[in-house]
Amino acid sequence: EGRSEGIVIKDDWPGYSLDLFSYPAHYSGDLDCVIIPHGVIMDRTERLARNIMDDLGNHAIVVLCVLKGGYQFCADLVDRIKDLSHNSNRTIPMTVHFIRLKSYLNDESTEDLHILGGEDLSLLAGKNVLVVEGIVGTGKTMKTLLKHVEAFGPKMIKVAGLLVKRVPHSSACVPDYVGFEIPNRFVVGYALDYNEYFRDLSHICVISDTGKMKYKI
Ligand code: 5GP
Repeated sequence: EGRSEGIVIKDDWPGYSLDLFSYPAHYSGDLDCVIIPHGVIMDRTERLARNIMDDLGNHAIVVLCVLKGGYQFCADLVDRIKDLSHNSNRTIPMTVHFIRLKSYLNDESTEDLHILGGEDLSLLAGKNVLVVEGIVGTGKTMKTLLKHVEAFGPKMIKVAGLLVKRVPHSSACVPDYVGFEIPNRFVVGYALDYNEYFRDLSHICVISDTGKMKYKI
């Protein structure tokens, strides 16, 4: 199973009109379009679960969920892996742990990445670790995080990222399992936020200028 860029969403893809889906009325006017409907996210996640199972089946893994943006993807991915474990001879014993990162203010990546407390990661020593992240942009965050995790001496580290952005000068830090490769635009929904807003939106959408203004801090 080679690395894959996942489902590629081209730069000229206009997305779906918001009118074709339901979404919370409190966000009307704040979004430009739906770029990935919730159902498609779920279908792709199911396949990623199978790929992970094919590669890692029968080995215990420690899932490390990157908060907050990765929580929904992590929950759904773990559910799909559980479904596969329930229905075949191959199973993956899993434990789930959390790490909280913060690097963004408004839609700008800030230089300093904060690892905000969380659990004692010494439990990762000698384990097969699956890091689960919502979105990878420049890859800086992922790089810093991987360095941090490696210091605890895991046996193996794999990364699952739901979204990878096509960013110029990205630091070749591509997840092992990728849901979608997307254009370099700021997206929200499915737990991805803009200053804490839009986590309560199930589709992945492009924020509008009005939305950016409204929730700017
Ligand atoms: P990177 O260090 O790869 O540039 O940025 C990664 C982090 O920035 C992600 O963990 C995520 O928190 C945030 N991020 C990057 N692009 C987006 C985006 O389009 N939408 C949202 N909501 N967060 C993003």
